[in-house]
Amino acid sequence: MPDLIGSVVSLTGFRDRDLVNTKLVSMLADWLDPLAVSLYRCVGDPSDLRLLRQAGQRRGQAALRGDPPWVPLEALPAASDWPQHHRALLTGERVRGVDTRRCDDAGEPALLSVFPIVIGQKRFGVIEVLSERPLSDEHCELITGLLQVYRNHMDLLDYSEHDMLTGLLNRKTFEAQFAKGLGATACAPAGSACTQWLGVIDIDHFKRVNDDFGHLIGDEVLLLVARLLRSAFRHGDRLYRFGGEEFVVVLRADERAHAALAFERFRARMEAFTFPQVGPVTASVGFTQLRPLDIASGAFARADRAIYHAKQTGRNRVCCHETLVESGALSGAEKSGEIELF
Ligand code: GH3
Ligand code: MG
Ligand code: MG
Repeated sequence: MPDLIGSVVSLTGFRDRDLVNTKLVSMLADWLDPLAVSLYRCVGDPSDLRLLRQAGQRRGQAALRGDPPWVPLEALPAASDWPQHHRALLTGERVRGVDTRRCDDAGEPALLSVFPIVIGQKRFGVIEVLSERPLSDEHCELITGLLQVYRNHMDLLDYSEHDMLTGLLNRKTFEAQFAKGLGATACAPAGSACTQWLGVIDIDHFKRVNDDFGHLIGDEVLLLVARLLRSAFRHGDRLYRFGGEEFVVVLRADERAHAALAFERFRARMEAFTFPQVGPVTASVGFTQLRPLDIASGAFARADRAIYHAKQTGRNRVCCHETLVESGALSGAEKSGEIELF
């Protein structure tokens, strides 16, 4: 057997989820020599779980990264459409069968083994192995053990990447993900479906909520705002609690008007919501298009200038940095935090 301990050490040494996922899949491919192995993560509503491929490897090929997280939910396979995957997720047990979805290169149906990954109460995902022969008991034990290590490691990563109060991603994660390509390299030209937008959301007069109702009620408002954010934005959009009563959203939209609509949908839902004891609370939003070579602080500073304008002009508004610059309401000259290269 290949160096089991060494592989596990390197798996748990990664902090980047994509690297952990591709490492897990390539370890299984090395050990089992299957036709193919894939890791899927469950996304979407628990009553209609969809499967998003995180990593995969076919025999004789290098490990592939998975589908991008912004693929619309409707375009992803429903767990309920794949009976073995569905049963593994429902029962928490390994399920074996024949892969009716595709055939191997020789045209023979492949054997399918699905191993569920459950973290706490959460159906996290599955490992799918396609092979010509049934997996041995020893292999199955090895996979189950390895998935426990993977699960524990993901649990720890989750803990360090998320904000304790709201469960949204934290500021440190925003900076790490931005540096990894949330902005710069992943940024596509305007008009492309991959154009990214960064919005800063700041609760209006939040200090009054604390002053009038106390910190605990203030914290509950933050929790409910996080819930409203989750419901207003799509599964591939990234939601961060940046600090205090400030949130950041990074989303994809092909044009400015569509990004504005998404932020406006959140603003309107927040305005319409009645917070227990407190009543209505509103939020202001400033957003900007991510540019090639953007740095996190630069993009944030532009959105922040737009939000400052929203606060100055009555709060409970969505303002776009680029629109404000075009209309002359803001100067195009960038303030601190941005690097002007040209
Ligand atoms: P504006 O509309 O201009 O944004 O006014 P504001 O009152 O929301 O802004 P300000 O920055 O003056 O106040 C933010 C308040 O948020 C002050 C601080 O006590 C509160 N706050 C920050 N973090 C937390 C937290 O974790 N829990 C609670 N309950 N309050 C927090
Ligand atoms: Mg603030
Ligand atoms: Mg505020």
